[in-house]
Amino acid sequence: DYKKNEQIFIVNINPEIVVKNYKNEKMKEILNKQKYQIPDGSGIVWASKRKKGKIKERITGIDLMLKICEKSQEYDAKIFLYGATQEIIEKTQKELKKMYPKINIVGKCNGYIDENNATEKIKKSGADIVFVGLGSPKQEEFIIKNKATFSYIKIIMPIGGTMDVISGKLNAAPKI
Ligand code: UDP
Repeated sequence: DYKKNEQIFIVNINPEIVVKNYKNEKMKEILNKQKYQIPDGSGIVWASKRKKGKIKERITGIDLMLKICEKSQEYDAKIFLYGATQEIIEKTQKELKKMYPKINIVGKCNGYIDENNATEKIKKSGADIVFVGLGSPKQEEFIIKNKATFSYIKIIMPIGGTMDVISGKLNAAPKI
């Protein structure tokens, strides 16, 4: 779908997000509306099987983010990293470059500066793909609020603390 003129807002669905938004009708509606809902939690896979749903396996946010980074090289897609501390974001950029030498990171912005400032930076960068790691629900709210003005962005994905993992600060949660 990448080449089509469609904007993709990837939403991660894990038990924590389900519980947090159980009573939040607006957020539930937004999450349910998205075409790409990633089953990021074994509890989600279990619930789907119980309800005879179609979900077969868990996809973690980090796996998907890395896959997108890998694929982006084929298209020379422009990537923007937003979130985490300055140190973590620098380290993440280095690690991604090591893994994917042809990756094109056009901009980055730590998650502790003024949001409007970050929005401007993202817009100016002309990025095709933006990863937003501000923690939940802050990152989803940021994306929902700014989605319309980011109309040229092809993929916007909330990534939680994934940059902390890529940079080596944290260990990834075991994949069960
Ligand atoms: N974070 C940020 N700005 C904030 C709050 C958090 O950039 O105002 C970053 C934080 O540095 C971390 C990430 O958001 O890299 C995820 O935070 P947390 O673990 O609290 O969220 P979760 O992954 O549990 O949703």
